Amino acid sequence: MIPYARQHISQDDIAAVASALRSDWLTQGPQVAVFEKALALYCGVKYVVAVSNGTAALHIAYLAAGIVSGDEAITTPNTFVATTNMLLAVGVKPVFSDIRLDTYNLNQEEIEKHITKKTKVIVPVHFAGQSCDMSAIRSIAKKHKLLVIEDACHALGGQYRQKKIGSCAYSDMAVFSFHAIKSITTAEGGAVLTNNKKFYEKMLRVRSHGIHKDKSGFNVMSEFGYNYRLTELQAALGLSQLKQLNRFIAARRKVARAYQVALEGIPGIIAPTELDQNTSAWHLYVIRTKKASDRLPLYRHLQQSGIGINFHYPAVYSHPYYKKLGFKGRQCPHMELYGKTAITLPMHVSVSERDIKTIAQAIKLYFNV
Ligand SMILES: *Cc1c(COP(=O)(O)O)cnc(C)c1O
Repeated sequence: MIPYARQHISQDDIAAVASALRSDWLTQGPQVAVFEKALALYCGVKYVVAVSNGTAALHIAYLAAGIVSGDEAITTPNTFVATTNMLLAVGVKPVFSDIRLDTYNLNQEEIEKHITKKTKVIVPVHFAGQSCDMSAIRSIAKKHKLLVIEDACHALGGQYRQKKIGSCAYSDMAVFSFHAIKSITTAEGGAVLTNNKKFYEKMLRVRSHGIHKDKSGFNVMSEFGYNYRLTELQAALGLSQLKQLNRFIAARRKVARAYQVALEGIPGIIAPTELDQNTSAWHLYVIRTKKASDRLPLYRHLQQSGIGINFHYPAVYSHPYYKKLGFKGRQCPHMELYGKTAITLPMHVSVSERDIKTIAQAIKLYFNV
């Protein structure tokens, strides 16, 4: 079985975690700040707040943005439910805007249609590791006085217009996840990046119960908060993984190039495209069948051939929970088509040339070519 995603753990990673285990601190020690600094340096951003997972990172970013019940956020239906679940957690209504059919990212041309008096924020998601058109999204946000919070959970190590994703050059905050299958992992973990000191300080406080030291050095709680802390073991692992990030991205990009060659000329499918302004982190490799009727049979055929395929993502509004809340996909025809044709093929650091040959052969067999 070729898994669709898999972490890559080195001997150095194991040694780093072992060393953290032997240290004086398992949590609330020095490693988290070291990891945050290293990540800030890598991305070219001022501030980083590391937290227990990407979902928590989205939550504290939304809290820092000050969006509340009655506000609306424009986002993509082509994302993991955490993006919008955390909007619901702060009482904000997600408004789904349609995707483009080349990158499967938010279509910047569609966004303005959905802006109302209640709109406060745009949440672009860099699907599969490829950036949205951030320049256009930034302009729209400026014009309408909206904040931009990037869900960059797929995109650590990727670039947009020669700048690292996470630099916040075109946004107010960017969110990463360090879940096992993301660009780098801390098993579970996440972070918010920002150049805004106010947002940074707010996020530091809500990460740990809203508790801080008063003038006499006593702990006081002056606002509501959570325990969203990352442990020292995780920070040590994150730091060690970060050192390998460029290698990981190079390996993923090599896999993508090999796929492109191997899948070329297969008539029934559409391979993914990378726009000139982007350097994708290639979190996922998604193909589409030209005919919706081929999708499920091809999916089954690949599964039976020992290929670990998947589907990213069913439209958020199509989940039973969101349907119950009254969300519908009427305004997202591209997403509807995408959902009927997309298949995620294996993509991770350890996909071999041989794996790609096997996968391409299996697809060719299905289409009789
Ligand atoms: C992984 C992911 C998240 C959530 O991150 P967790 O660390 O699993 O909580 C949010 N949004 C997107 C797009 C993701 O891929």
